[in-house]
Amino acid sequence: MRPIAALSTVLMFAWVVTCHAQKPRFHVLAFYTEKTEADHVDFARQAITFFEAEAKHDDFDWKATTNWGDLNTTNLKQYQLVVWLNDSPHETAQRTAFQQYMEHGGAWLGFHFAGYNDESTHWPWFVGDFLDAVFLTNSWPPLPAKLIVEDRSHPVTRGLPDTFISPANEWYIWKPDPRASKDIHVLASLSPSNYPLGMKDTLAAGDLPVVWTNTRYKMVYCNMGHGDKIFTSATQNQLVKSAILWLGGTAEK
Ligand code: ZN
Repeated sequence: MRPIAALSTVLMFAWVVTCHAQKPRFHVLAFYTEKTEADHVDFARQAITFFEAEAKHDDFDWKATTNWGDLNTTNLKQYQLVVWLNDSPHETAQRTAFQQYMEHGGAWLGFHFAGYNDESTHWPWFVGDFLDAVFLTNSWPPLPAKLIVEDRSHPVTRGLPDTFISPANEWYIWKPDPRASKDIHVLASLSPSNYPLGMKDTLAAGDLPVVWTNTRYKMVYCNMGHGDKIFTSATQNQLVKSAILWLGGTAEK
């Protein structure tokens, strides 16, 4: 190879490597708070560590913030995916910006307390149209539970076993149950074999969806997210990773 040709080959290679390194496949903005229940903060911090590693491995851009004011229309234009690690916006402007983002093709991944709601929430779109689930009560203390993977063909749950043990979590049960909505596709639920579940607060029976998507939006809710054991299951980690890649738009359909 002539020197000029050799040099241009080297430069082309360097250009390809540089572009590959500098161009993330999608951009994620995660919100959390440190002014809440300690177990919820533990999860959020571990989730940030987990997703930072995944971002390097799978070439996406990951940013986490405690500033919920960043949930505004101008800022959200930079991101293909918003993640809520155990909290949700409380101000009307932030809620409105999020709804508009979701109604115009944005994606959302929410964990545990991000889906919590009660009579003080006052956000009918989120509770009744988007999450499609009203919090009823929870189990206590946090315990592992056997989950049933209901749809193993969905990109989020593809490749998972029929059932797996999900690490210790505080489990929420809902009424109305999200399964009652025609828009909700349940991906994983609590196995009835866990009942009675809990000691201080016991769940005795009932359908308990754990991971679902609302087919009218690009979203996934995961009830896992209480305490520092959540990322100790390789199977569950695979589910979480598949969720972020699907929502970011790069997973195989
Ligand atoms: Zn909790």
